[in-house]
Amino acid sequence: MMRSLRIKLSLALIITSMSAVSVVGIITQWRVSTRFDQMAMEHAFENFQADVGAYIDSYGSWDEAKKIERFGQFVRRRRALIGPHADEPFFSRPEDGIRPAGRRLTPPMPDEPEWAPPFLFILLDPQGKVLLGGGKYEEGEFVPESARLGVSPIMRGGQVLALAIPQGKPNLSAVDMNYLAIIREALIYAFLIASALAIFLGFMISKRLSKSLHELTIAIRAMSQGKLRQKVTVHGKDETGMLAEAFNRMSADLAHAYEQLEESNCTISEQALLLKELSIRDELTQLYNRRYFNEQANKLFMHMKRYKRPLSFMIGDLDHFKQVNDRFSHATGDEVLKAVSGILKNNTRASDIVARYGGEEFVIIFPETPLMQAVEQCERLRKMIESFSWSAIHPELKVSMSIGLNDDLGFDRFEQMLAVADKNLFQAKADGRNRLCYQSSVDLELRAGML
Ligand code: GH3
Ligand code: MG
Ligand code: MG
Repeated sequence: MMRSLRIKLSLALIITSMSAVSVVGIITQWRVSTRFDQMAMEHAFENFQADVGAYIDSYGSWDEAKKIERFGQFVRRRRALIGPHADEPFFSRPEDGIRPAGRRLTPPMPDEPEWAPPFLFILLDPQGKVLLGGGKYEEGEFVPESARLGVSPIMRGGQVLALAIPQGKPNLSAVDMNYLAIIREALIYAFLIASALAIFLGFMISKRLSKSLHELTIAIRAMSQGKLRQKVTVHGKDETGMLAEAFNRMSADLAHAYEQLEESNCTISEQALLLKELSIRDELTQLYNRRYFNEQANKLFMHMKRYKRPLSFMIGDLDHFKQVNDRFSHATGDEVLKAVSGILKNNTRASDIVARYGGEEFVIIFPETPLMQAVEQCERLRKMIESFSWSAIHPELKVSMSIGLNDDLGFDRFEQMLAVADKNLFQAKADGRNRLCYQSSVDLELRAGML
């Protein structure tokens, strides 16, 4: 893409400069040749005027002169007398110092077979009658005023002697032609050199201009790939320089804003995580709360039931906990709740779900655990609570827990399984507290079969 922009810029610059060079070349060439013709005509007119004046002066009038000697012959004789240069091309006069070596010094005279007048004039008398014909006008004809284009009067003593009308283009001599050819050649060289310069400068300038844009394109591409912090070189103070400066500023701002956004995203994620933790944890004990436990227990219950995997559930309640509060203070009660939570959490598997279910009630789900294994585990926990060094909190403090267990997955919903465990807990309390109560689902099935 950049390459094409560079080519477009180069072409635009080259076409513009080449057009300018061509126009200058064409105008110069046209001006040189028209000016050359004009000067040749003026010079020829000067000589023609002098010849006509001398011809009329010599014989009194044109008609008289014509009877004695033809104008052409007179001119030839006159030129021989006044020197050979009078009718030479004006550019090759010796005083101009530009006559090429070896060129003829004397032009052929009128009446010589190779002679051609340097410029053809039709001569009219003041009334418009043709004295000396040429082209479409014959001697003696009248030329209407409307046809006397470019007419120049030949004066003598304030009087119009005759009128001369130039005809066509000058008959340039070989020297003049050479001169023109040299000018043309010089123009062609100038054109070629200017063209080469235009091409070279076109490429250099377009390279310089497209360089900044090229850098910008690479930087923008990098930004679109996520590398937001980009810096391009600022070349000068023109529009591309300003563009580069603005781009650098924007890139820095964007990268900064993105970094801040990432930072706040991080904070938001951390806070979301924290919030989630807060929403599923009990504030005092840091165990899972009742809501989260119910959610997880329901899922696990359905899963284990479907795949016929063993699952045991326990609910434990601290014995006479009201008395702990009443005897030792609510704060001591809180300490006890925390210590019990620690015992339960630290002595179960990571896959077991331990939660504080209510005030001084705790629940645990033991996935992949048959009832007897859970009974062993709960018995261990019960003993640990009983034998914990509660005296460290208060010398007279004693704590125990009653536990109800259930492993029956034959229910439709987890709440039913929980109700049975709760019933067992009630039984444990009734049986004297600080003990476990369970009824194996296998026993129940067997009993049901016997009835
Ligand atoms: P039982 O052996 O029959 O369970 O007797 P209990 O006293 O433990 O049972 P009860 O339900 O009468 O009392 C429970 C007490 O637990 C009452 C309440 O003050 C206390 N309790 C509940 N939540 C908290 C708590 O977060 N902190 C403290 N310190 N005590 C609590
Ligand atoms: Mg209770
Ligand atoms: Mg209790």
